[in-house]
Amino acid sequence: MSHDAVELLSQYLQIDTTNPPGNENRGVAFFARIFEAEGIAYKTYEASAGRSSIKAVIPGTGEKGAIILLNHIDVVPAKADEWSVHPFGGEVKDGFIYGRGALDMKSLGIMEMLAFLEVKKQGLTPCRDLIFLAVADEEAGGRQGVQYLLDQYPDDFQADLVLNEGGFGLNNVLANRPLFMIATSEKGVCQIRLTSTGPPGHGSTPHGDNALEKLVQSLNRVLSGDNPIIVTPQIAEYFKRLGTEWDFLKPYLKDGKAETLIDALTGSGMMNVPQMSAMLRNTISLNILKSGNKANVIPSKAQAELDIRLLPGTEPDAYIAEVKRRLADESIRIEPLKKSSASKSPMDTDDFATIKSVHMAHYPNALTVASLLFGASDSRFFRSKGIPCYGVCPMLISLEEFNRVHGIDERVSAESMVEGTRVYTDMVKKLCRI
Ligand SMILES: [Zn+2]
Repeated sequence: MSHDAVELLSQYLQIDTTNPPGNENRGVAFFARIFEAEGIAYKTYEASAGRSSIKAVIPGTGEKGAIILLNHIDVVPAKADEWSVHPFGGEVKDGFIYGRGALDMKSLGIMEMLAFLEVKKQGLTPCRDLIFLAVADEEAGGRQGVQYLLDQYPDDFQADLVLNEGGFGLNNVLANRPLFMIATSEKGVCQIRLTSTGPPGHGSTPHGDNALEKLVQSLNRVLSGDNPIIVTPQIAEYFKRLGTEWDFLKPYLKDGKAETLIDALTGSGMMNVPQMSAMLRNTISLNILKSGNKANVIPSKAQAELDIRLLPGTEPDAYIAEVKRRLADESIRIEPLKKSSASKSPMDTDDFATIKSVHMAHYPNALTVASLLFGASDSRFFRSKGIPCYGVCPMLISLEEFNRVHGIDERVSAESMVEGTRVYTDMVKKLCRI
């Protein structure tokens, strides 16, 4: 079997695991074939037809709790006509490997597997069980993936550490050095549906109780409400680390006050960068609005769906109460569609220190920061069980590549893939004390 990171990623990208429907069985078969060729036992878990996950273990001495290398098999949809290459062609062109999942997260899945195989190949015994785990359904909420596994087979996933997606390295955002984000926390998710009803009627004779108009007016109040900048302790630390790189943060480095940080970020225009704003605020996005089907008929019903993302410290129910207050219309019904609290893992563990030191050993010039993931990942399920979870990807990409995640022509450079695999393998070995 080839252990070539680029070739393996290209093959893996050719497997269409678009979720929905997922078809993760195809990805499970890919890993199963490799484990069979290497003489590694594995176990599969089928949540429903076509929706499987796969686990393989290298037993350790048990000196420390197990480490899980977690990755998801599914990918978000890609419209082939928008891409310059086929999204499931696994094409290698001009030094890049193209395909849906090239960054999110089939590349990391391959790195994890190659690190796992390397430990096996060397025949060394790790100080802890080393578990490779590729799962279904991350992109649609994890019900058929990690949530199912932890609900149905809790004993199979006891661990002291989970390494997952959510971290990344950028080679062109700081002037002279790479920046590695290691995700130690992620925002909470609160998605709600608002429903407004009223009597129907003819558009020529407005009666003043139009369901759609009531909803639009209330939505305006919700969306125009202030979501202030909140400097959580982790974010304060994040900007202290970055303060050495960005001149506009110098005043904040001097006094360490939240107000100074807010002034600096606002004054520099940084808050206009959506990612920066997402890291510092609870956010609301109006993504669905449904009502009416004829220009001359007053609709009797109107619905909106809001995607709300919450910083650590703000609970979904508390924010729903805030939305209710802003709506200022008791007749509008609020229905929660998805609620999960923000999650975080400690930054003062030995494992976290090891992860950082491996980054520094390979990229001595790099700046590493503990970061907050804006989106939700499977880490939240493990964190809710009290298991520390870090988003780690020790390869360097450009901001341009990063922006293609979930977008068009997603790709990763062959060089990053090879180098990332090397660093990832070293990191796993260090965490396993071998
Ligand atoms: Zn992902």
